[in-house]
Amino acid sequence: MSDELWQDHPVVLPWLKERWQYLCDLKRQGRLPHALMINGPKGIGKACFALATANYLLCKSPKDDAACGHCRSCELAQSSGHPDLYHLQPDEPGKPIKVDQVRELTEFIYSTAQQGGYRVVIIDPAESMNVNAANALLKMLEEPGKDTVLLLITHRSGQVMPTIKSRCQRVDCVAPDGEMATQWLATQLTMDSQDAEQLLRIAHNSPLQALAYKQQDYLGLRSKVLAGLADILKNRRSALDVAQTLHKEDLDLILGWLYGLVNDIARLAAGQEDTELLRHKDVQNMLLAVSRRADPQRLFAFADEIHEARKLVMFRLNPNKQLLLEKLLHGWQGLR
Ligand SMILES: [Zn+2]
Repeated sequence: MSDELWQDHPVVLPWLKERWQYLCDLKRQGRLPHALMINGPKGIGKACFALATANYLLCKSPKDDAACGHCRSCELAQSSGHPDLYHLQPDEPGKPIKVDQVRELTEFIYSTAQQGGYRVVIIDPAESMNVNAANALLKMLEEPGKDTVLLLITHRSGQVMPTIKSRCQRVDCVAPDGEMATQWLATQLTMDSQDAEQLLRIAHNSPLQALAYKQQDYLGLRSKVLAGLADILKNRRSALDVAQTLHKEDLDLILGWLYGLVNDIARLAAGQEDTELLRHKDVQNMLLAVSRRADPQRLFAFADEIHEARKLVMFRLNPNKQLLLEKLLHGWQGLR
C-alpha cells in the first residue's frame, strides 16, 4: 500500500540493503538469474525493492550500485514509464491475475528490448496468479527471452505453485528488528520513539503499514472499530448495528486487529498481566476487563473463528462481508 509512496524514486529501505548488495554483486559477476522471487512479509518495502531493481537493471550507466537517475532510461522510468518494464498485477486489488493477462506478457518477453538492454517484468503479488495463469507463466520461466528478468513479489510464498518457486531464485526479505523499525518510523513521521513503537505494534511490526496507518488515517478506522467493540461490550449498540457501520471498510485490516485484540486478551487471561507486551496497549483497560471474565475455551474458539474468516477474505472467496462481520461481532459479544 504505502509502497506507492516511492514509485517515482524507489528507495531500498535500510533493512533490505544487504539483499540489495547481494543482487548488485550477482549482476556485476554476470550471474543474475532470470527469475527472482522477492519474498517476505507484507509492508516491509518489497515492491519498492523490486522497482529499484528494475530501474537499476534498465539504467544505462548505473553508479555505485544504483541507477544513475539521469540517463534516458532513468528519465523514462521516472516519467511516462519505461517501455522495457512490465507490471503484471491484478486488475483490482485482491482479485486474481488471470491467464489472459499472462498471455499478454508473451509478446513483451520475446520481443527485442526497445532501449536495447534488459527487459524487466514485475509480478505483484505472485500468489495472486490463478492456476491457469501460473501454468502459462511456467513456460516463460523455462525459456525466457534473452536479457529478461522476472521479479516475482510474494507475501505468501506458500501459496505460489512449487513449480514456479523452483524456477526462481529466492531473495528472502526480512522485517527490520524492532529498534531499527522504530527509529525509521519515528524519523519518517517526526514522532517520538514511544509513539512510533506503539504504532508499529498495531501495524503488526510492519513499518510501511505503520506509515500508511498514520498517513491514510487507518488510525481513524481503528478508533471506529474499537469504539464499536466497546459499545457492544457495554450493550450500547448491537453487533448488527456495528457490523453495518463497518462492513464497507477494509475487512482484512479489521479482522487483523480483532485477531490481535483476542490474542492480547488470551495472553492476559493466561495470567500474564504484563500490559507492556500487549499489541493494543492503548486499550488495555478494555482488554483487562474482558480477560477477567472470558472463558479460555471460548476465547480460543473465537480466535480460531477469526482466523478462518481471515482466510476467507485472504483467499478472495468473496464472503458476505456484512454477515461475516456480524457473526464475529456476536462472538465478541459472547466474551462479555
Ligand atoms: Zn540511469
